[in-house]
Amino acid sequence: MADAAEPTVISGPQELRAAVLAARGRGRRVGFVPTMGALHAGHVSLVERAAADCDDVAVSIFVNPTQFGPHEDFTRYPRTPESDLALLTGGRVRWVFAPHADDIYPPGWCTRITVDGPARGLEGELRPGHFSGVATVVCRLFMAVPADAAYFGAKDWQQTLVVRRMVRDLGLPIEVVVCPTVREPDGLAMSSRNAYLAPGDRQRATAMWESLEVAARAWDAGQASSAIERLMRGHLESRGVVVEYAAVVDAESLDAVRPGAEARALVAGRLGATRLIDNRPLPPRQAGGG
Ligand code: AMP
Repeated sequence: MADAAEPTVISGPQELRAAVLAARGRGRRVGFVPTMGALHAGHVSLVERAAADCDDVAVSIFVNPTQFGPHEDFTRYPRTPESDLALLTGGRVRWVFAPHADDIYPPGWCTRITVDGPARGLEGELRPGHFSGVATVVCRLFMAVPADAAYFGAKDWQQTLVVRRMVRDLGLPIEVVVCPTVREPDGLAMSSRNAYLAPGDRQRATAMWESLEVAARAWDAGQASSAIERLMRGHLESRGVVVEYAAVVDAESLDAVRPGAEARALVAGRLGATRLIDNRPLPPRQAGGG
């Protein structure tokens, strides 16, 4: 069959599951990109990677209520279905999964997945219940889209750790592929939430990326992680970012850095009402430097 230029939009999980299993039964490799819509070039990079690796690609668009806290932005989260569909047309995307909330959370639902370990600190501490909402919806989406591989962005680094942990712990038959963060020319990580930024805040938002560059230079110079965290925080505050965390930790466990292991610098902060996160890798070095 020729690659479909126009994706088929499906809202029923069972219908999509049958279609994906039928394609795999014919020997086609299927890739899956879960999203909350308001698509941008970061999402498109995941779709392109999936299309390069796979014969067919499924993209889900679902603003998942259970990963938002009661005072977070669920109701005002950007929803742009027409432009999302336009972005997904003309490529290798075969299915767009756009479920209704009831398709994902049936009336009376009361089952949640809770991940410990990598879900505990940072975002997990500041956003109680967030990763449980993420794990629950991702598992549910994996049931609807029984793909060979699922593609996630390193932009949400802690989320990738949580999903990988869940996949391992539950023995879910899917490969998790983590793709690099796509950035604006000035370094700001692309995010659906960037649309909230007022013009002045948009300029200051480059401090997120700059603070990670500060961290990388100090890391290369052999500074201790606690000193690097202070430098990152200082840079963010000097640009008016209200810092939620600025952390240098082991890339896999998010615990203290270990000599010879890859580390990660992660930041979260607020500009006005907009909450931003970002991170970057720090290569293994011999001096752990807590
Ligand atoms: P979201 O729609 O924000 O839930 O994101 C859906 C997927 O796109 C997640 O795996 C994100 O990590 C990924 N993603 C979001 N922003 C970017 C970006 N700037 N670069 C790469 N991947 C991204």
